[in-house]
Order: sequence, then C-alpha cells, then structure tokens
Amino acid sequence: MNYFVHEKAVVDEGARIGEGSKIWHFAHVRGSAILGKNVIVGKSSYVDAEVKIGDNVKIQNLCSIFHGVTIGNNVFIGPHVAFTNDLYPRATGEWNITETTVEDGVSIGANSTIVCGITLGKHALIGAGTVVNKDVPPHGLVVGNPSRLIGWVCFCARKVAGKDFEGGELICKHCGSTIQINLDNH
Ligand SMILES: [Zn+2]
Repeated sequence: MNYFVHEKAVVDEGARIGEGSKIWHFAHVRGSAILGKNVIVGKSSYVDAEVKIGDNVKIQNLCSIFHGVTIGNNVFIGPHVAFTNDLYPRATGEWNITETTVEDGVSIGANSTIVCGITLGKHALIGAGTVVNKDVPPHGLVVGNPSRLIGWVCFCARKVAGKDFEGGELICKHCGSTIQINLDNH
C-alpha cells in the first residue's frame, strides 16, 4: 500500500486510492470511489460511492462528497463543504442522482454548499459560506446565497477583475500570470 489510511478511518473494500494519498481519522471512503495521487481526505469527511477525485486534491475536515460528484486535479475543498445530489429530495420514494463537476484548480471556501447539477469551471474560487446553485465560469469568483459572480481570479486565487470585466487578457499583479477570460464560453 503506497498511501496512508489512519487506523480510525474506514476505507471500504474496492476503493481505488492513488499513491501518496492520506485518509485521516474518522473519514469514510466508499468501495467504488476512485481517488487519484496525493489526495488528502481530512478528518470526518465522507467520500461516497462512485465519486471520482483527481490528483493533488485537498479535502479538509467534515466534508460530504456524495454520489454523482466528479472532482478534477488540484482542487481545494475547505472545511465543512457539503455537496448535494438530488434536486427533489424526499425521505422516501425515488432518488434521482444529479451530477456535479468540479474542474481542475477550483477552490471551495469553508462551509459552502454546492447544489447538484452544476459545473464549477477551472480555477474558479468559491467564497466561504457560498450556496452555489448555478454554473461558475472558469476563473470566476462567486459569493453569497444564492451565489453571484463578483469578479475574476488568477490561478493564485487573487482577484484580477470585477464582475463588469468584458473579457480578454488579464495580468495578475500578485504572481504575474496571464489569464484569458472568454465570456463567449460562459
Ligand atoms: Zn496570480
């Protein structure tokens, strides 16, 4: 085994976990979940059946990642983040899984809720406590409940433009990276 599972974590048989990953105490990873390399699953987090997670993903404590969620590479999920997976939830009766995609490089702030059926675009930043109920464009910065776009962020998560930016090239004052925002694709 070339990954670490804390003795108090529960990893069900059949889970695929990549090299260098760490599953911390009281976390539970279901048997059909697939985790890439160097994934950290924090204390008391839950990774449901058939969830797919890429490489270098950091999941903080007490997160709930349910069936239907797919997470790319280099994604940060802050503490207490909850995903949902049914748009018409009832305690009894039919359960319709609705999929959610988190693209590469996204960061999700603490205590956010990601309502199912949406895509969080590459390198988007979700402010702490946001209830995200609609797609977020690549490099988009969203906050609030319901979520609203308030600007654009760099790869380094620093804000590079306000919401009224009309698209084009931006240069980050913090790290010097060039970011291309194409509003036609949003
Ligand atoms: Zn930057």
